[in-house]
Amino acid sequence: MTGKAPVLRAVVIGAGIVGLTTGVALRRAGVDVVVCERAPEIRAAGAGLGLWANALAVFDGLGIGEQVRAIGKPSEMRFHDPSGRLLDTPGFDAEDHRYLLVHRAKLTGLLADAVGRENIRLGAGFCAFEEHNGGVTVRLTDGSTEEAEVLVGADGAYSAVRAQLVPGTPAQEHRGHHAWRAIVPAGGVAVAENRLVLGTNGCRGGYVRTHDGSVYWLVNQFRSPPLTGTPRHQALERARHLEDGRDGVLTRLIRATPEELVLHNHVVLVPPLPHWVSARVALAGDAAHAMSPHITAGATLGVEDAALLGALVGAADDVPSALAAYQADRIPRYARVAELSAAVEHSATPQEFARHYTAFSHWMITPPGHREQPGAAACLAGAHVVKQSLRHL
Ligand SMILES: Cc1cc2nc3c(=O)[nH]c(=O)nc-3n(C[C@H](O)[C@H](O)[C@H](O)COP(=O)(O)OP(=O)(O)OC[C@H]3O[C@@H](n4cnc5c(N)ncnc54)[C@H](O)[C@@H]3O)c2cc1C
Repeated sequence: MTGKAPVLRAVVIGAGIVGLTTGVALRRAGVDVVVCERAPEIRAAGAGLGLWANALAVFDGLGIGEQVRAIGKPSEMRFHDPSGRLLDTPGFDAEDHRYLLVHRAKLTGLLADAVGRENIRLGAGFCAFEEHNGGVTVRLTDGSTEEAEVLVGADGAYSAVRAQLVPGTPAQEHRGHHAWRAIVPAGGVAVAENRLVLGTNGCRGGYVRTHDGSVYWLVNQFRSPPLTGTPRHQALERARHLEDGRDGVLTRLIRATPEELVLHNHVVLVPPLPHWVSARVALAGDAAHAMSPHITAGATLGVEDAALLGALVGAADDVPSALAAYQADRIPRYARVAELSAAVEHSATPQEFARHYTAFSHWMITPPGHREQPGAAACLAGAHVVKQSLRHL
């Protein structure tokens, strides 16, 4: 905190990873913040989450990097084929593979504490906003209103803020693209190492050990036929394409998972948006750019959005210019994300997938000045922060 009396007030809609990080970033920049969440509690849909060095640089800049590392396990994104062969990606550094695996619920809990629980309104869903001279009025589902100078919509892929700000851009199901995942306590199934496999029939997945000894497993399928059976059964069917039909570790982990712990998602995409902001309203995170999890970076990139908003709005003489600068940075960056992500998605072979994936993560974590587009890290403490975050991973 700067110690100065807050000049601006912000309403952030959504207490997911991005909304909460935006709350922290704005507060650190001296802005008075209220985060409005429609759910009665802070929930983290999902299981494990990979945070890359660019997100860790943001958390370092916000002063919570060490706390985030304390709930995570340093891991590496390296792929195998179903026979167990490592798919090599020559030309990239070890750093291009490194990420921190965290438990989503622990991360949102930590972020909520950093925002200050007293600054979060639960059971307060967004209804509508009205911009007027000098500010914005936000109407909430409990009948109350909030007045602020800036509104941030971080309310996820089905964003109601986006529906008003950029009408006609509903989230779309990515047909045939599904994900199953769970975190299971270790013990029952021996897991000696992490394993991510690019299998047959559009199936990908594997398992990663977490910092508390439990195991995060995940299975994805592109071009899936219509689903039948329970989510656990669906995941088990796909695991056959990752373990050559053998009864391997992944299959055993899925079998050991109680049905109610298996999360299934039909992958949802937000189309490229013509604009992300108005004079007083901005979108961040999945509300602006929900993407396929095959690049496992939606939250990591959304954390960048949060940092950039905090830096620009906190330093702003006028909010509309700050939001315009935010949009000018973000739209080209996500256009490039979309190109690199498409290259991963449409890879013809597992080897190509591994190469395109690593090319994407290399680009994402490479400091500004060394890549084609200016990124959020330029607004943080400088390019060296990203490299430091990698060393501390
Ligand atoms: C299978 C899978 C694996 C993934 N793995 C990774 C990974 O390893 N690494 C990574 O970086 N990303 C990953 N992602 C992407 C990541 O999960 C998302 O990008 C991220 O969670 C988005 O966060 P968010 O805060 O923008 O949105 P959300 O997490 O959707 O949060 C939105 C919040 O807004 C609230 N809300 C919604 N509507 C309203 C309303 N009207 N009023 C008030 N509140 C509202 C919701 O209740 C919720 O709390 C993965 C995604 C999937 C599907």
